Amino acid sequence: MEDVDVAIIGGGPTGLAAGLYAARAERRTVVWERGVLGGQIAITGTVENYPGFPDGVEGPILALDMHRQGEQFGMETKYEGIRSIAREPEGPQFILETESEAFRAKVVIVSAGADPIKLRVPGEEQLTGKGVSYCATCDGAFFKEEIVAVVGGGDAAIEEALFLTRYASKVYVIHRRDELRASRILQTRAFAHDKIEFIWDTVVEEILGEERVEAVTLRNRITEEPRQLAVGGVFIFIGHHPNSELLGDLATLDEGGHAVVNLWMESGEPGLYVAGDVRVDSARQLASAVGDGVTAAIRSEHYLQEQFDS
Ligand code: NAP
Repeated sequence: MEDVDVAIIGGGPTGLAAGLYAARAERRTVVWERGVLGGQIAITGTVENYPGFPDGVEGPILALDMHRQGEQFGMETKYEGIRSIAREPEGPQFILETESEAFRAKVVIVSAGADPIKLRVPGEEQLTGKGVSYCATCDGAFFKEEIVAVVGGGDAAIEEALFLTRYASKVYVIHRRDELRASRILQTRAFAHDKIEFIWDTVVEEILGEERVEAVTLRNRITEEPRQLAVGGVFIFIGHHPNSELLGDLATLDEGGHAVVNLWMESGEPGLYVAGDVRVDSARQLASAVGDGVTAAIRSEHYLQEQFDS
């Protein structure tokens, strides 16, 4: 079985920042990524609020640069999912299993992030990839001169609605309340945009289409009135679900599935840290995700010195 000093699960900004610090501390550091490096920033267009980039920075480029920076200090990457984490039967380390291999790790940092929440309405699953999308940056260009709908009222929904105006002829934002949760600056931009129209107090009940999305069935929550809206695409941004299943009994989860940790990202299980969007009370920002990774790596370095170096 291969030995690792610091095992990092999830190669988003949190994991890559942790990896940089741990590798630079000359620990054997391995990051496991089951999808695309960069997590949510890999599917984000321009990031405008990451300090140090006054002209903005493209999310996927920043992700690749973060990865390259870690690699320069010896951080390794494995493109595979971790299936389970368990305590070594007799000893202070952890055993991690992938589909095909097992690893022994002194420290585990879980930075597995969060996945988009689904609407769970008829048509959504069948039409995913056929007009239903959870990533405007990835799929927006397929909707040139089309009418599209965005569902949600948070930062993600409004930012992505603004992004979609580059391609679509019209962007409807369908929100279940009459007030947005998104930040003021995004609201101001969206309200001023002539391609964006808001449909308030409304939920999507069904996504219709045979080969591709053709329309959505809406219901006004106040009048109960149903309505059909012809659209070629539906972009869903109604929040994220933390990828904490992997933690099993090793950490306490809140009712939303976020792992309970202290300000050092310690889970309560010695050597196990949980950081980024998968933990409770995360600010869910790129900068705070990076900060979480750094915090976990610094604390875990203290732990390694105390437990294994002396
Ligand atoms: P969010 O802030 O949780 O917003 C989710 C939105 O979806 C809310 O408007 C919510 O409505 C709506 N919603 C939830 N469940 C729904 C359902 N079943 N049907 C219809 N609508 C539903 O999620 P987010 O926008 O993905 O943002 C996540 C975090 O990332 C936030 O902290 C956000 O600030 C951050 N973020 C920041 C930026 C940025 O700073 N530029 C960009 C993207 C994301 P209600 O309002 O009625 O609850």
